[in-house]
Amino acid sequence: MQTQSKLALCSLPLALCAAPSLLAQGQQDFSAVQIKTHQVSGNVYYLEGQGGNVGLLIGDDGVLMIDDQFAPLSEKLQAAIKALSNKPIRLLVNTHVHGDHTGGNENFGKLGIDIVAHDNVRARLAKGVNGAAPSPAAALPVVTYGDKMTLHLNGETVTIAKLPPSHTDGDSYIHFAKADVIHTGDSFRTIGYPGVDFNNGGTVKGMIAALQQLYDAAGPNTKILPGHGVVVTRADIAAQRDLTVELQKRFTDLIKRGMTLEQVVAAKPTADLDEKYGSSERLIPAFYNAVKAEQQ
Ligand SMILES: [Zn+2]
Repeated sequence: MQTQSKLALCSLPLALCAAPSLLAQGQQDFSAVQIKTHQVSGNVYYLEGQGGNVGLLIGDDGVLMIDDQFAPLSEKLQAAIKALSNKPIRLLVNTHVHGDHTGGNENFGKLGIDIVAHDNVRARLAKGVNGAAPSPAAALPVVTYGDKMTLHLNGETVTIAKLPPSHTDGDSYIHFAKADVIHTGDSFRTIGYPGVDFNNGGTVKGMIAALQQLYDAAGPNTKILPGHGVVVTRADIAAQRDLTVELQKRFTDLIKRGMTLEQVVAAKPTADLDEKYGSSERLIPAFYNAVKAEQQ
């Protein structure tokens, strides 16, 4: 009986129920996370909580949502969206596969919201990301695309387009033509070094090309909503592109000299940049492996 009632309590926000055991494994506690709502331009907003920025387009046709952070935050995100719009969430776009952008998929999918993503995002979720179990059916995108798709709702023309393999091999950006806003996903972030997830198909070459593509898609006044961080302009994308070109040069040189990853770490190749961009602990192995693979 006791087990039954426990199961019943756990049936809906599964991740909340799982929290104590996850905490025991050193996972994050989301109970203190508060969702902040920011207006970007016109009917385009974003929610800041824990994880990737959640983009929103609101209007009479319903809410278009971009990314959904972590599963334990789904109810808080829903409450923040309700405070903005009394219309239902109609579509949910995943910019890429990472759990801080797709963690709420199952919760939102179970509400009957259609999830939209690039083909590779669905394939990786279905297989299981980084050795994790395959995602449940409700968490999988029901609409996928190869290069591009366009949505027409709330008076907006919303273009979702694939970027070259950069942060992962399934990165997309979302362009709102009327509001003049681009949600870049994690191929552009304002929180430090560029993030190349080599194990999920990210490449340095592709990162440079993706940043150029994002720059070209933007105008001088376009508001750039990054995967993480604050709203900026395309000048910041150009700076990140230039930084990535510089990093590519440095790692290419070190690898050409036959240095191992251990030797590269010891050489502190980004010592002069770390003050501005933060820790290079994740950057160095990612760029080393990616640049090395791209040279072959
Ligand atoms: Zn990511």
